[in-house]
Amino acid sequence: MAEILKGKPVADAMKAELTKKVEALKARDIMPKLGIIRVGARPDDLFYEGGAKKTCDVVGMTYEVFEYPEDINQADFEKAVTEVGANDSIHGILMFAPLPKHLDDRKIRALIPVEKDVDCMTLGGAAKVFADDLSGFPPCTPTACMDMLHFYDIPIKGKRCVVLGRSLVVGKPVAMLLLREHGTVTLCHSRTENLNQVCQEADILIAAVGRAKMVKADFVKAGQIVIDVGINEDPDRPGKYCGDVDFAECEPVVGKITPVPAGVGSVTTAVLCKQTIIACEQLNP
Ligand code: NDP
Repeated sequence: MAEILKGKPVADAMKAELTKKVEALKARDIMPKLGIIRVGARPDDLFYEGGAKKTCDVVGMTYEVFEYPEDINQADFEKAVTEVGANDSIHGILMFAPLPKHLDDRKIRALIPVEKDVDCMTLGGAAKVFADDLSGFPPCTPTACMDMLHFYDIPIKGKRCVVLGRSLVVGKPVAMLLLREHGTVTLCHSRTENLNQVCQEADILIAAVGRAKMVKADFVKAGQIVIDVGINEDPDRPGKYCGDVDFAECEPVVGKITPVPAGVGSVTTAVLCKQTIIACEQLNP
C-alpha cells in the first residue's frame, strides 16, 4: 500500500503562512490583490475562479474579476488588459486561456507586466523560470508539484525524475524546477520510445499528459513517488474526474502517490495566492 500524498494539508499549511504575510503587508497599509481576466464563462474557468476567490478570502487578500464578452475585439481587449496591467492596486494577474480564436493570444499575453505575471503567461515570465531567475513565477501547477514534494520531505537532489508531458504549462516548467533542485530529469512526450520503461526508471514520476489512466502498473515500480497532475473525465465513472495515472493499478505498487481529485489540484489556488503575495512584496520592497 502506498502513502497517499493529499493536497489539502499542503494547501492548509500554505494558507496559514500566507495569512501571516498578508497581515504583515496590511500593517504597512498594503493590500495584496489578484486581478482575474476572463473572456466568456467556461464552466472550468468559473470553477477555478471560484476556488481562487475562496482562497483569497481565507488568506485575507482581495481580488477583482475583469470579465469580457466572448466576442470582444482585439483592440478593445488589448486596451482592457493594458489597463488591468497598469492598475497599481493589482499585484498579480491570472488570465484564463485559451482565449477565443479571433484574439491574438501572443500579442495579448505580452501586455501582462512580467512582474505581475503570477501564472507564467508571458515569454518574459517563462524566460525567468528557464534562467533560474527567482524573481519570476512558474505556472501555478508546476509550483504546486514542487510544493507537494517539499511538504512531504521527498528528496529531489540526485534523483531520477521523469516528467510525462512537455507542455509549457506543466511539463517543461516542472522539468526546469526539478533540475533547479538537482534532479536528473528526463522529459517524455508522445514520440518517446519505450515510454513505460523510461517511466519505470524514475524515482519521481510526474504525469501531465491529459490522458485518463494512461499510466499503468507497467510504468511504475516499488518505492516510486508518483505525482499525478492530470484532470480528466473518468471514462468508468461519468461525471467524475480521474488522473493520468491508473490509481487502482499503480497504488499497490508504488511508494507514494497523489490522488485525483484531492491531490495537486487542491494546491494550485493556494499557489496562485502565494505568488500574488510574493509579487506584491516584490513591488513594495
Ligand atoms: P497538453 O495537452 O498541453 O500536453 C500534454 C502532453 O502530454 C504533451 O506534451 C503530449 O506530447 C503528451 N502526451 C499526450 N499523449 C501522450 C501519450 N500517449 N504518450 C506520451 N505523451 C503524451 O496538456 P497540459 O500539460 O496542459 O495538461 C496535462 C494534464 O494536466 C491534463 O490532464 C490537464 O487537465 C492537467 N492539468 C492540471 C492542472 C492542475 O491544476 N492540476 C493544471 C493544468 C493542467 P506531445 O508534446 O508530443 O504532443
